[in-house]
Amino acid sequence: MTSDIRIGFAESVGNTPLIQIESLSQATGCNILGKAEFLNPGGSVKDRAALFMVLQAEKEGKIKPNGTIVEGTAGNTGIGLTLVANARGYRSVIVMPSNQSQEKIDLLRTLGAEVELTPPVPFADSRNYYHVARQRAEELENAFWANQFENLANAESHYQTTAPEIWRQSGGAIDGVVMSSGTGGTIGGVTAYLKEQNPKIATYLIDPPGSGLYSFVTTGELKAEGNSITEGIGINRETANFRRAKLDGAFQGSDQEVIEMAHFLLKHDGLFIGSSAALNVVGAVRLARQLGAGHTIATILCDGGGRYQSRMFNAEWLAEKNLTPIAKGLEFLDS
Ligand code: PMP
Repeated sequence: MTSDIRIGFAESVGNTPLIQIESLSQATGCNILGKAEFLNPGGSVKDRAALFMVLQAEKEGKIKPNGTIVEGTAGNTGIGLTLVANARGYRSVIVMPSNQSQEKIDLLRTLGAEVELTPPVPFADSRNYYHVARQRAEELENAFWANQFENLANAESHYQTTAPEIWRQSGGAIDGVVMSSGTGGTIGGVTAYLKEQNPKIATYLIDPPGSGLYSFVTTGELKAEGNSITEGIGINRETANFRRAKLDGAFQGSDQEVIEMAHFLLKHDGLFIGSSAALNVVGAVRLARQLGAGHTIATILCDGGGRYQSRMFNAEWLAEKNLTPIAKGLEFLDS
């Protein structure tokens, strides 16, 4: 008999299920597939990038025994990095904007990260978490700044693992793939790999309000308007990881669609997912409508809803934001 044991943290990351989402597949006449990244040990798609960035840094001698991993993050990369750090004998210092969910901040501290919160100011401001993280890495001795936005080990993790898994799990029968982008790692690695397997696969971005990527993909110009309740996605610059992406087009999705989709999937499919995952599924339905019935469309379920219980799944918070979780059947999918 052969064994099926995964050794330690490193081998616990990835190989997540590809789930056919029944309600939406029936509604659209397509196969809507979600890659269940919330089942990674750190609870998100970012465990893959975290692991690859640390392994690469070790290989290149950029991190030494007892060193410190420093990163600026919306939370999930920090969670993944802190677990990798614990498993491999490093400290972790995580810098994140104070407007991220309390659940992620609490979890990071529980896992053992030293967390520093920064004001939620734009990238151009030196107090932005990205710049503060770089500064902390310079100040600390024996520290490694993961720099997930520009570090190509991020997209490489998805090129080498997420995308081949989707390809293999679907038997190569993918017509389209759609997802949002934060650092661009997932979309960069996944679309690059899938286009190499089959250039006919339709590859799309779905972008939240407040991000410049939708206009960048559709007009070549970065232009951002509004803001969004989604966390970990949307950006107003082109990162090295995003540059790897091979895209055919882009959609936009609203906060109201995100909330309806998240609550709808929880109620009808037993899928408890976070805001970026819900936006991704909105994108999958948009692409299904565009391609027509009979197609197979994959997306990424980046993390779980538990990380946002006090927000997306909290009636008072939703009312404050003027958002309503009630999906009238599948009407919200028609627009
Ligand atoms: N969803 C969530 C919840 C995230 O934290 C992130 C990472 N910032 C993403 C999606 C986007 O992934 P990527 O950085 O690979 O673009």
